[in-house]
Amino acid sequence: MALCPLVAGNWKMNGLKASIGDLEKIIAGARTLVEKSSQKTAVAEVMVCPPATLVASFAAAAAGTPVTIGGQDCHALEAGAYTGDISAEMLRDAGAQAVIVGHSERRQYHGETDATVRAKALAAHRAGLLAIICIGETRAERDGGRTRDVVGGQLDGSLPDATENLAANIVVAYEPIWAIGTGLTPTTKDVGDIHGFIRLRLQSRYRDLGANVRILYGGSVKPANARELLVAENVNGALVGGASLDPSEFLAIAGVYR
Ligand code: PEP
Repeated sequence: MALCPLVAGNWKMNGLKASIGDLEKIIAGARTLVEKSSQKTAVAEVMVCPPATLVASFAAAAAGTPVTIGGQDCHALEAGAYTGDISAEMLRDAGAQAVIVGHSERRQYHGETDATVRAKALAAHRAGLLAIICIGETRAERDGGRTRDVVGGQLDGSLPDATENLAANIVVAYEPIWAIGTGLTPTTKDVGDIHGFIRLRLQSRYRDLGANVRILYGGSVKPANARELLVAENVNGALVGGASLDPSEFLAIAGVYR
């Protein structure tokens, strides 16, 4: 079964109310991509994950368009005395349809472990959100030949157990940490190899269900390298950081799937 690719933009801690203009450009571009497709349907799902302050207004603006809105993180619990945190239910209430969990910046700056990430992925499921679960190795781990060990361990520890509709509940985003925001990228072959490894791991854990879970590549995806990175086998879309802040760059990346 061909999986519908997902191209998700992670705006990180960027964006103010005035950024709605950028979302409108992305919506217009996503509409054009649909119109230009031979089937006149979305050939890729286009998602924007703005900071939490913008989720509600972006979701309202994107309702009924080919663009969906996601959060960048959530707490594992539904509600409680957790100052500054946001639950998956709150994101859902604001109109989000997905949430990124376990981004390397959360793991690095907020000490999130695989167990924390798994709890957040379960929270996303509880709230009816798609969890985009991030994994990826550091430069030192890669140089030490430990990429598969690290990525395999993160998959085992961060992913929830199977649900009936697993592919609608989780997406895996492979993001080598050394490629995030650096302009460095793995080769197409390297991406294909590690995505193939992730696919096998998903299938050995979830059997047939593992074949339908989308695996995104993330790390310095730009219009100039998107095609070569996204054609690799078992790459079912991209998680885009820096380039997603520029609507034309982001749309050019999504346009690879035209
Ligand atoms: C990210 O942080 O998820 C990311 C992929 O960033 P960038 O595209 O800027 O490397």
